[in-house]
Order: sequence, then structure tokens, then C-alpha cells
Amino acid sequence: MSGKIKKIGVLTSGGDAPGMNAAIRSVVRTCAFHNIECIGIYRGYQGMIEGDFKEMGPRSVNNIVNKGGTILKSARSKEFMTPEGRKKAFDNLQKAGIDSLVVIGGDGSFTGGLVFNKEYGFPVIGIPGTIDNDIFGTSHTLGYDTALNTVVEAIDKIRDTASSHNRLFFVEVMGRDAGHIALNAGIGAGAEEILIPEEDLGLDRLLESLQKSKASGKSSSIVVIAEGDKMGKNVFELKDYVEENLPEYDVRVSVLGHMQRGGAPSCFDRVLASRLGVKAVESLIAGKSNYMAGLIKDEVVLTPLEQAVKGHSEIDRELLRVSDIMST
Ligand code: ATP
Repeated sequence: MSGKIKKIGVLTSGGDAPGMNAAIRSVVRTCAFHNIECIGIYRGYQGMIEGDFKEMGPRSVNNIVNKGGTILKSARSKEFMTPEGRKKAFDNLQKAGIDSLVVIGGDGSFTGGLVFNKEYGFPVIGIPGTIDNDIFGTSHTLGYDTALNTVVEAIDKIRDTASSHNRLFFVEVMGRDAGHIALNAGIGAGAEEILIPEEDLGLDRLLESLQKSKASGKSSSIVVIAEGDKMGKNVFELKDYVEENLPEYDVRVSVLGHMQRGGAPSCFDRVLASRLGVKAVESLIAGKSNYMAGLIKDEVVLTPLEQAVKGHSEIDRELLRVSDIMST
């Protein structure tokens, strides 16, 4: 496909994240600003296959900058993973006159966009939207900052009960492949230990650290555990293991779960969403495709989608040291 962009389709795909609505609003209003039509595609790629489209003008996104979730709904579409599904999607886009796409989602959604571009030459720009912050090419994904604040607030509350009963709490947070939430929220909430997928602390060191903390006079403790930590035990097995080996500890488990994805986006996520939406639309207008708009050193920059998908978003190892020092 080539020529001037006239009608942009926008969709949200994969897991929802706070700030997705602010990004939709930004895409819609940037289109209006540049006199380009904007079409909302409902339920991600599945809505593309089913032609679930709605025209969006600047007033259609009033009062959503502060809302969690996504007004366009999100979905995971198995059908889009088949050439037949993608053909249906392409036919629908053509019928509606849509000539380019802004995909707000995670690396799976970007992979879908890349495959679609390869088959049909359809211009695609991605905006990283996932609370896990596990995307290469941006220091922050949409929803990550909000999720950190949500987790810290929850752990603050857990600490109240932990200290009243002299208990040890294991708090499980989201992050199957990446420990960004656990590491940053753990430091922010003053956790004794933080277990993440990137680092194998080892069971012995965990016990040692807990013993040391008891001996140093701490009567209650919080251990933050990412879903995908490397200990080889789930959070409940870990509780049993610690209670067997350190009977002086009364351990409780709290799995924060989906509440981490909800809630009003933080100011940071709203501003980020607004900036990335502008960049995505203006990049399409400039004839660019197969890029992700992201934030690096507080500048909005483009990273090739392929790199964003293949690259790994590393944790800041200095934070592990900071966390160790803080638990002295
Ligand atoms: P999250 O990080 O929240 O999981 P995600 O974007 O990575 O978000 P996925 O479920 O992995 O979420 O992908 C979203 C959708 O992208 C899939 O349901 C599918 O429709 C599409 N998709 C993913 N991988 C491919 C692929 N290889 N080919 C075509 N489409 C794909």
C-alpha cells in the first residue's frame, strides 16, 4: 500500500492496561487535528475480522482520559493467527477505506501487526500498552506506572496488618517473564526481599535473609514475589517451605491478581499516552510503518517493531543492590 494516509484504524489488543483510553483519545484527536478520519476497531484483531468498526471524532473520546480499561475492548484472537482470518480482516479494512493502523498492546499484538504488514503491506505503528513493562524500546509501557502505584498502595495496607500481628507476608504481583513491577514496587513499599524471574535468589539465601531480619529486631516483613520467579515453587509452596524451616515465622500469602490492571491511570501514564498517540499518528502521516513509539530518556522515539518484539527489556540491576541495602 502507498500514498497519503486518509483513514487510520485504532485498536487495543492483548491484556488491557490503564492509559489505553488516554492513548485512544490521543490517536483520535491527533487524527482530527490533521484532518484525517479515525475508525475505532473493537475487540482487537477479532473485531477487525468481524468488521466491528466505529467512526471516532474528537468528541467521541470526551471524559475517558481518566478511565482504566479500554473503551474499544480488548481480545485475544486465535483466528487472526491464521492466513484466512487475516484475509477477512484485510477485506474489512479495505471495505471501510482504512489505510493504516495504530495497534495499542503488547509484543503479541505487535507480532500480529508485523505479520499483517508482511502479507498486505499495511502500514502499522505500535504503542506499548501492558502493565508488565516488558517491551524493548521504551523505558515505560502504558499502565506500568499506574500498576506500580496500585501495588505499593496495596502493600502499604498489608504492612499495617503484618506489623500488628508480627507476621511475614508473601505478596505475589504480576510479572510472568519480567520483574519490573516486583522490583520497583518492592523497593517503593519497603520489602524485605524481592523475588523476580531475572534473578535466582535461592531458597537458602531467602531463609538466611529472613533469619537475619528477625535477629536484627524486625518483627514483621514483606516479601514481594513476581508470578514468574525462579525459585521453582509457587507462592503457597514457598510459604510452606519457610514455615517448615523457620517455625518462628507466621507466614501469610496475598496474591494481588487482576486488581493490578485496573483503576484510573496515573498522571504519568496519561501524559505518556498522549505523547505516544501523537507520535504514532504523525509517524503514519510521515509515511513510516513497522515502528513502535516509545519513551527513551524522556524522549518519544521510534523503535522498529521487530526489535521491540525480539529485544528484551532488562531490569535495572542497580535496583537489586539498592533493595539489598534498604533491607539492612
Ligand atoms: P500482553 O502483554 O498483555 O499479553 P500481548 O499483545 O502480548 O499483550 P497476546 O495475547 O500475546 O497479547 O497477543 C494479542 C493478539 O495478537 C493475539 O490474540 C493474536 O490475535 C495476535 N497475535 C499474536 N501473535 C501473533 C502471530 N504470531 N500472528 C498473528 N497474530 C498474532
